[in-house]
Amino acid sequence: MNRTIRFLLLLALLGLASVAAAQVDSARASAPDAVAQLVARLDLEQYKATIKGLTQFGDRRQGTDRNRNAVNWIEAQLRNYGCTDIGRIKYDYQPPSPPSPEGRGGQGVRPARDTTRASGGGRYRGIRARTGVNTDSLQQPDARVRAIDMQPTTPGAREEVYCTKVGTGHPSEMYIVGGHMDGHGWGEAANDDGSGTALVMQLARVFSAADVHTDRSIRFVLWNNEETGLNGARAYVEQRQALQGKEDPPGSGKYPEPTWLGMIQHDMMLWDHGMPRADGTLSPEQRPEADVNIEFQSSAKFAPQAQQLAFVFQVANEKYATDYPATVGAHMTNTDSAPFQDVVAAISLRENERGTQIGAGWDPNWHQPTDVYSTYSDKDFRLGLNAAQTTLAAVAGLVGATIK
Ligand SMILES: [Zn+2]
Repeated sequence: MNRTIRFLLLLALLGLASVAAAQVDSARASAPDAVAQLVARLDLEQYKATIKGLTQFGDRRQGTDRNRNAVNWIEAQLRNYGCTDIGRIKYDYQPPSPPSPEGRGGQGVRPARDTTRASGGGRYRGIRARTGVNTDSLQQPDARVRAIDMQPTTPGAREEVYCTKVGTGHPSEMYIVGGHMDGHGWGEAANDDGSGTALVMQLARVFSAADVHTDRSIRFVLWNNEETGLNGARAYVEQRQALQGKEDPPGSGKYPEPTWLGMIQHDMMLWDHGMPRADGTLSPEQRPEADVNIEFQSSAKFAPQAQQLAFVFQVANEKYATDYPATVGAHMTNTDSAPFQDVVAAISLRENERGTQIGAGWDPNWHQPTDVYSTYSDKDFRLGLNAAQTTLAAVAGLVGATIK
């Protein structure tokens, strides 16, 4: 029995048959260890280099030249990887006026500190440290980074780029793999979300290789305007939801918007140093028990399907990720998979749980000037690489990837 079939049988034993069964036929045709071979094509140095490349555009704040230049740079990389089926979503962004009190990512009015309920439905435990978005340029000590981040945002036209690996057997169905390319806070957005963007780009590289074939399609999307309230992901759902599965032009065999089978988001993949200490400081080192947090939202319309999908990822992590395990939680929140969660199975991968952990100050660089490339060590980058291994392995199984 080959490894792929054993993997799928394991999914079936776990009661995940409805996610896995449809893909069994195509996966059975896979080479014995195609998934392992594909995972081996990920590489820590290439992952780091992609994050480093993104940081040349500073915090990539939406509505600026550095954001538009980053979108163009990402598209050029995708093209270099051979991911040639490239498109852009165009939309208009007007900031709410007056600013929404329910801001994104720690900005705006937050519930009183005595509440025990975290965003997404979880419960805070233990020590909490303060969170927020830095808006003061002078907090950035590096004059070079400060200069890159100087141009203010202006309302108006926005673009975000995607590319698609077209499935050979079922091109009309796809998984969406996403990360957000915009950031803020007067740093380099290296972790939030250069780490997730680079993960998606590296998966696009591996799946776009000329010798890799998939039965179903995969779309790699780099969302814009996540930090202002998931506006880029919302625009995608609004514009594309009704187009799912339609052959256009009829008889062409082309599906501009394949039917969505699942949406997998990646946001902040590097830092899991544990809970803040009583004095508010954190361990300077990645904790050895660091994990990848896979979350679904228990209140979503597609919660049962998303839960199944989350455990497919956990099983893939256990089998294929080299260093760090994965944990599943039920409180996905504040992420680009949210606009999809009532339409399709939607999950997110992060360094920590967004609500109870990042929301409690477990990442001191979150939206801060310290979110620069030089803040992170190889132990940090390796957590992101393990998340990439997890998603690559899970998606390779789900789409029936083969190497020829
Ligand atoms: Zn983020």
